[in-house]
Amino acid sequence: MTPEQFRQHGYAVIDWIAQYWQRAEQFPVLSQSAPGEVRLSLPPHPPQEGEPFAAMLADIDEKIMPGITHWQSPNFFAYFPSNISGPSVLAELLCSGLGVQGMLWSTSPACTEVETHVLDWIVQALGLPDKFKSTGSGGGVLQDYASSSVLCALLAARERATQGETNKHGCDRRLVCYCSAQTHSSVEKAVRIAGIGSQNLRILPLDEHNALRPEELQSRIEQDRAQGLIPFFVCATVGTTSSLAIDPLPQIGAICAAAGVWLHVDAAMAGSAAICPEFRSIHDGLEYADSYCFNPHKWLLVNHGCSCLFVANRHALIGAMSILPEYLKNSATDSGQVIDYRDWQIPLGRPFRALKLWFVLRHYGISGLQAHIRHHVHLAELFAGWIEQSTCFALSVPRSLNLVCFHHVAGDEASERVLQQVNRSGEMFLSHTRLQGRYVLRMCVSQVHTTEAHVRAAFEQLVQAAGTAGAASAE
Ligand code: PLP
Repeated sequence: MTPEQFRQHGYAVIDWIAQYWQRAEQFPVLSQSAPGEVRLSLPPHPPQEGEPFAAMLADIDEKIMPGITHWQSPNFFAYFPSNISGPSVLAELLCSGLGVQGMLWSTSPACTEVETHVLDWIVQALGLPDKFKSTGSGGGVLQDYASSSVLCALLAARERATQGETNKHGCDRRLVCYCSAQTHSSVEKAVRIAGIGSQNLRILPLDEHNALRPEELQSRIEQDRAQGLIPFFVCATVGTTSSLAIDPLPQIGAICAAAGVWLHVDAAMAGSAAICPEFRSIHDGLEYADSYCFNPHKWLLVNHGCSCLFVANRHALIGAMSILPEYLKNSATDSGQVIDYRDWQIPLGRPFRALKLWFVLRHYGISGLQAHIRHHVHLAELFAGWIEQSTCFALSVPRSLNLVCFHHVAGDEASERVLQQVNRSGEMFLSHTRLQGRYVLRMCVSQVHTTEAHVRAAFEQLVQAAGTAGAASAE
């Protein structure tokens, strides 16, 4: 493809995306595709000769779109958001066009320095503790996903607890870590990958708010110590996946500090809310954390693959990750004056991810991003009020930020039927969870183009479905 052809097809692709954003609402939100249907529409063999670009773009409409669930639809209320925005997508395109591999400072100084700078901006923008800034002993790094962030934090914690012994001799079977029954499954996955083993992950019971009980943590750490084990890592959550419950960081942090245990705080979606001063209390106690992560690609208008990981002390992380083979040696690394982010992550290679965060911060400004978050919290507040006033639904837990968890008053079966009915309609998409044993519907209001009218229409459809589901339950 010549640069001129690239320009021509590039314009067509940008037009396609812009049109898609304008008409995303017209598609059934949840893909209606049956298993195997997309593959069946594709030729069994790769093409021997190259094809015209227009044919590929036409296949996006004909073959791919039926198999797409529309995360960008304003009627998408399931799971968690997948925010995107013009500046972010354009920055991603620039990142692809530059094709930079930023493994070392020397392989593209701008890739490293913009990342360091923008992550220091994020510390200011979210009011995070200063110890996470690169100007002290800590610093931030962009990972792809929160799952990678927690794995890196766990490896750094293991490094600190064993003074590097694990790297040399393999995992000490006495290492134990802690989380709550509502912690994201990525923590257990990290524990398995790191060789700690699921049997050494203590999954602690919850309080009435679905948050981790500090007294349980304290007593399990003491019991484990008494048995000769080595407690070394706790993951607390600010905004659990199921209900956006917030673990009590001040108490958990004090326990970890006294016990010399690494505290990682996972704020994958909810962390973005801290850009608004009025929601910043979600981070009370964060000064205790050794590491902290949130995903701007969930709720802060940056597209996929942008998880901010901050550490209070970068040496443990670098100690866990750094191996310097001959072919990567260079004078900048030798000088000790530069950051080589390959030592802050699992893979060697890394794209110029910071461009999209940089563009988004500059395009919207802090005030634009605050308006984005406030809009969603306001809509969720309205929705929670309607649920409270309705006769067919009840709140399962108090609304937390942009998430409303509710259930049908007739019970689990009726709630399940409501979910099936509204999702089948294609007009909206909600997901579910279980809280304290109850089947619960989750309404997460966070899509970029969602307005009050969309939320109202969703509520009315839910009430309609509740009538049918309630009647069926009573039969
Ligand atoms: N932590 C929490 C609280 C989450 O809700 C999620 C995803 O929903 C994750 C971690 C995992 O995120 P990622 O997909 O970025 O690995």
